[in-house]
Amino acid sequence: MNEFELIERHFRRSPRSADVRVGIGDDGAVIAPRAGMDYAISVDMLVEGRHFVAGTDPALLGHKTLAVNLSDLAAMGAQPRFALLAGALPSSDPQWLAAFMRGFDALAARYEVELIGGDTTSGPRNLCVTVIGEVPAGAAITRAGARAGDVVYVSGTLGDAALALAVADGRVEVDRALVSALQRRLDAPDPRVALGVALRGTASAALDVSDGLAGDLAHILDASHAGATIDAAAIPCGDALRALLRGPRRDVALQALLAGGDDYELCFTASPAMRERIAALAQQLSLALTPIGTISEEPGLVVRDEDGRRLPLLPRAFDHFA
Ligand code: ADP
Ligand code: MG
Repeated sequence: MNEFELIERHFRRSPRSADVRVGIGDDGAVIAPRAGMDYAISVDMLVEGRHFVAGTDPALLGHKTLAVNLSDLAAMGAQPRFALLAGALPSSDPQWLAAFMRGFDALAARYEVELIGGDTTSGPRNLCVTVIGEVPAGAAITRAGARAGDVVYVSGTLGDAALALAVADGRVEVDRALVSALQRRLDAPDPRVALGVALRGTASAALDVSDGLAGDLAHILDASHAGATIDAAAIPCGDALRALLRGPRRDVALQALLAGGDDYELCFTASPAMRERIAALAQQLSLALTPIGTISEEPGLVVRDEDGRRLPLLPRAFDHFA
């Protein structure tokens, strides 16, 4: 199959939304902003050998490629609307591509995200998605709004994806019955779209935890010119990780919890006055929203252990060039 046959077969579709003036098939897409709305735009790339191993299930990869992007929009409080998909593929394997698009399209359908363009080229496997989301003018949540006294929250649980990798590498062992759930957290993250949208006007700052809590929270602190003290024991995690934290492989568990990466939960800050509103939101979304610490004036991140002692060395967040 040549490039244009691939595009026709796998990507071409007619515009669905009224605000898509020109969709796939021209040199560019044309979308019309709706009155009173801002667009939030983000791009994220998944590279074979870096973000996923060769031979990864293409349907899961299709899901994840979009999910990591929707997670960025969620962190901005934006409702996802459009996506562009650029792919480098080692060969024109229609079966692989069909499975990839099954995963991609299923998640896109769940959030009514419309594919409006992309690029297709041969090369080492690399999938890059651009997403465009809508947020009422001026209402986007950024990393810069945290203030001293605000409470730091995280959604869901952290560390499971990193623990799945540690189990796969043989660095730790966990109860066999728990392995597939951990692996699912790594392979098929569930972007916190509804939470992000609901946090507009409630959160003072937010980001998605993709490179580990300690490093990612530091981005909020830098952008907000603030510091924070968090309580390691309060960080929500699954049973497997909780058990490891009490055992001889505590180092691996703490690393997964604080610097693991691939969590795709939201970390956000909010004034203490929002406590009840956030508790109600957790109920409504059936999603744990756990307070883990407090924003302070003094710059820097302090993590306290179960006994209130300061952890001397924070595990380092993932950095592609470190
Ligand atoms: P050009 O050469 O002008 O960049 P292409 O031939 O690359 O255009 O693409 C033709 C059309 O198909 C464009 O509208 C483009 O957005 C779309 N397209 C190409 N690849 C993809 C893809 N992977 N996903 C979605 N749309 C794609
Ligand atoms: Mg062109």
